[in-house]
Amino acid sequence: MSADVRRQTLLTSSGETISYKTLIIATGARALKLEEFGVMGSDAPNVCYLRNLADASRLVNVMQSAAGGKAVVIGGGYIGMECAASLVTNKISVTMVFPEEHIMARLFTPTIAAFYEDYYSSKGVEFIKGTVLSSLETNSLGQVVAVNLKDGRRLPADMVVVGIGIRPNTMLFEGQLTIDEKNGGIKVDAKMQTSNRSVYAVGDVASFPLPLLGSRNRRLEHVDCARKSAIHVVSSIMDPKDTGNFDYLPFFYSRVFTLSWQFYGDNAGEVVHFGDLSSFQGPFGAYWVNGKGQIVGAFLEGGSKDEYEAIARICRVQPVVGDRLDLASRGLEFAVSGDYGPPLSAGDDMGLVVERQLYAWHAAAGVLVAFSISAFAYWYGRRRRRW
Ligand code: NAD
Repeated sequence: MSADVRRQTLLTSSGETISYKTLIIATGARALKLEEFGVMGSDAPNVCYLRNLADASRLVNVMQSAAGGKAVVIGGGYIGMECAASLVTNKISVTMVFPEEHIMARLFTPTIAAFYEDYYSSKGVEFIKGTVLSSLETNSLGQVVAVNLKDGRRLPADMVVVGIGIRPNTMLFEGQLTIDEKNGGIKVDAKMQTSNRSVYAVGDVASFPLPLLGSRNRRLEHVDCARKSAIHVVSSIMDPKDTGNFDYLPFFYSRVFTLSWQFYGDNAGEVVHFGDLSSFQGPFGAYWVNGKGQIVGAFLEGGSKDEYEAIARICRVQPVVGDRLDLASRGLEFAVSGDYGPPLSAGDDMGLVVERQLYAWHAAAGVLVAFSISAFAYWYGRRRRRW
């Protein structure tokens, strides 16, 4: 119900007061509702959001009752793209409506977006861009029967899915902890500690400095960041001496239809596309190059495990690249070759790549142990024969 970070106490809805020595805020975020944009009707039985398990079960039930019908998907981000793919796969025709010029505007370039839009169109998805809804039309049972758009169009609908973004759940701590006004969320330092030393924040609600992006604060909405920031905070609390700063490489991914992409780093700067964007095969992708000529971000569709590891690695190393045309023609091979920039320093956390190096060490140690045992057995056998 409430928190008092000065007294280090929390009050629960049953009236219990809990004292703490250390507090970890993992309050996540809430889905934005249509009402926040002045449109009523979110509580209609066939309007779906997707934030928690109950939402997911409800969405499945509504999809079953709308089988063979029409869905309007509001929003062109993660929820919009992933739900639209699931809906058409389940034989529900889909129209996506969003205000931007292309889907996944927060990450995709127009070129990358065009690939996915073509793919979605080939599956029957229709797009209405550059507008938002103005009202939901309901029948006598309160069910939505049509979506009215600001541009005057009316879309008949058997169901509506809304994915229009999230807001971090900071309410309990406003006025007590420093809030990052620009990025939203609770501001933390490199140890994920808030403005109160005994309070940490992790996941969607935390705005933390990213050393790879010049230590600017960012709030990242992704499960990978939630998991890794939580692990880091627990380690900071349990083992403060041996836990350094949270040095996170931003990572996002999505799977739609039979497509699958990953993105690492920052999508800022000049974009260099590579690969075959004209077929539905891939792999294709893009590098983002900053003002100093360094690769700071990379996107890849249809890569293998090794190729995804290679783009993660290049975004950590951030090599300076010269000729952009050469980079475009070398494309993915440039990242995979490892033929760039300075070697990794020992302390670099490369995620899967480090794991691979560890596997190599384990394998080498294993071979050495096996060899020693057989050498000893041979020597021992020969000695026994002599006895
Ligand atoms: P989002 O931020 O990805 O997309 C929001 C979209 O809402 C924008 O692209 C825009 O098109 C649209 N929009 C904004 N205002 C609108 C309006 N008035 N009318 C119509 N459209 C409007 O958010 P989301 O898709 O709602 O996803 C919610 C959260 O869930 C995000 O944090 C996302 O990262 C997370 N998520 C991630 C994954 C994944 O990583 N694969 C999958 C699902 C959800």
